[in-house]
Amino acid sequence: MRRRATVHPVGEASRNPHAGVPFDDDDDTIAAALEDVSVPALLCSLVHLSGDPSWIRGSVRPRVAMSNEIQGGIPDDELADVRRRALPAIAAYRDGGCEPHRLDREFLAEMMAFLAGGPLEGPKLPMFFEDMQFDGADSRAVSWGNEVSAEAKAASPVIVIGCGESGILAGIRLAQAGLPFVIVEKNDGPGGTWWENRYPGARVDVGSHQYCYAFEPADHWSEYYCQQPELRAYFTRVLDKYALRPHCRFGTVVTSATWDDDTGCWRVAVRDADGNEQMLESRFVISAVGSLNLPRLPEIPGMDDFAGPSFHSARWPDGLDITGSRFALIGAGASGFQIAPTIADRVGRLTIFQRTAQWIFPNPIYHATVPPGDRWAQRHLPFYARWLRFLMTYPGIAVGTEPYRMDAEYVDPEGRAISATNAARREQLTAWMTSHLEGRPDLIEKSVPPYPASGKRILQDNGSWLQSLRKPHVELVRTGIDRIVEDGVVTVDGTHYEADIICYATGFRHNEFLAPMEVTGRNGVSLREQWGDEPTAYLGITMPNFPNLFCMYGPGTNLAHSASLFFHSEFQASYAVDAMHAVLTSGARSIEVRKDVHDEYAERLQREISQLVWAHPSITHSHYKNPQGKVFTLSPWAIDQYWEMTRAVDVDDYELA
Ligand code: NAP
Repeated sequence: MRRRATVHPVGEASRNPHAGVPFDDDDDTIAAALEDVSVPALLCSLVHLSGDPSWIRGSVRPRVAMSNEIQGGIPDDELADVRRRALPAIAAYRDGGCEPHRLDREFLAEMMAFLAGGPLEGPKLPMFFEDMQFDGADSRAVSWGNEVSAEAKAASPVIVIGCGESGILAGIRLAQAGLPFVIVEKNDGPGGTWWENRYPGARVDVGSHQYCYAFEPADHWSEYYCQQPELRAYFTRVLDKYALRPHCRFGTVVTSATWDDDTGCWRVAVRDADGNEQMLESRFVISAVGSLNLPRLPEIPGMDDFAGPSFHSARWPDGLDITGSRFALIGAGASGFQIAPTIADRVGRLTIFQRTAQWIFPNPIYHATVPPGDRWAQRHLPFYARWLRFLMTYPGIAVGTEPYRMDAEYVDPEGRAISATNAARREQLTAWMTSHLEGRPDLIEKSVPPYPASGKRILQDNGSWLQSLRKPHVELVRTGIDRIVEDGVVTVDGTHYEADIICYATGFRHNEFLAPMEVTGRNGVSLREQWGDEPTAYLGITMPNFPNLFCMYGPGTNLAHSASLFFHSEFQASYAVDAMHAVLTSGARSIEVRKDVHDEYAERLQREISQLVWAHPSITHSHYKNPQGKVFTLSPWAIDQYWEMTRAVDVDDYELA
């Protein structure tokens, strides 16, 4: 049946941005779209569009909560049944002018519980209400009112260092607060890591629908795990939407930041691409430099002798022709693991040098495009895109860090698991990995890690990596490298692997936060010396001796578990701006975390993290660990726990001077 309905005018300006764009598509178009949608998210949207709660109170319910299982494990016949019943409901919504029903908070909480498989406990419920933004407003937008005078604001400039994901966010919040600010960025454009990492195959490995700002639409991603160009375009778009470009100084490096106690200001030295140096002054500094942006090149004898192109994965040369080449890929963590399958069919020979095998979990939609019907639903069905975000985010947050905890009672004769749960995980992952390597015992032996599952940053795949290892012209080398020579790589057993190009996908200097800037605080204290190999910050944000300095993505905040770093950034940006508010409303000049508060937090964090799998002694090479094998980079807290910790600045934790 083909029919068209009249669309009633809807006030676009006042329309909730999550209510979906009104539509007049015919029934066939809608029916076709329904074939592509996530049915659990659809069921919630159907409640919004019909006002009928029976959609989520019936027998069709998600069976599993898994980030990459967007059908929630619902059997095919039930999916088909919902799709069939949904069509007339959506058509009626269309014919009625696409006005969704207003649902109260209790009801929305029931819908979250429906997708989650049970009521949200503790801070999860308020945190998700904040994230879902059902009323269409940015729930973390800064609104200071009149309590800070225009003069006080004008006299309180802020320097943001870095224009990646967190620097852009900091800029948005500072603009809302009405503070003057400048964003200094070493690259020529926004996006940080997504500006720099242009290697073939670079894509996000946290679902796109949660790897984005909560207050920006998430209905446009072309893939569930989108690729670098799309993310880079996203950051550019957000930067321009919020008119941040005039605040940005691209192509400019911060070389040092020094606190001046006499003036209560930071003096920030910058250098532009032409080598011109300048001293900027600000009252506050936000470091938004990221922590995976300093390439770590290995120290292998002979690297300078190599005759062909060689480069770090984050410095992939534009226009590099790899066709038919003998390509040596050194390092196969998150970056190398994406490069290999992407280039395997373009090069003549691919030799992958992997020092440590990596755990991989299956993700069938890792390379999947968002089908047109799902995109249609995200654009038009009320709150559908929001529920999809919830569906893809909640499961990771819900499990928190418990599955990663070492069980002191658990005895594993082989030392390869930390708990019964972890042992089961090892079995599951091993079975999936070996299923892709059937008939290749050599590859199975090389690929199944000897250390506990999830002990390093776990990778995910639809099988592309393991399948590419099977190709006749691809070789996985697990023997150590002895030296680089003019025409290749020689391993410690004396084998010479000829190569025309070498890519070092050897990771980043993750433990060296804020490097290489020289940051000097009160009484000339050097941040680098204060930290040494053990970087710590209260809540990952503030450090004693460094007043009015706030880190985003600072020590102890990287996530090897749970949801996307966007969640952390949003909490940290709000916290930093809150702290500025505390200064400006108290008449103080500066805010500095109390040493005892910081030290107690740092000890608590260390106690926690040392009980989690990433600190397991069997893991000898890990960018999470410092040279002594301790972990200072990662958060041991569940996201909702961290949300609660950072929700408001407790001025008792600080000296206001
Ligand atoms: P990585 O995970 O630290 O992997 C580095 C690789 O290089 C490992 O295989 C490592 O071996 C090897 N390696 C390092 N030094 C070596 C040496 N001297 N000799 C031989 N091999 C050496 O680095 P990455 O792959 O760049 O990823 C870093 C982080 O960036 C990830 O954890 C993730 O947070 C982020 N990232 C994310 C994405 C994404 O979202 N899709 C993509 C890329 C990166 P060992 O394992 O033995 O140390």
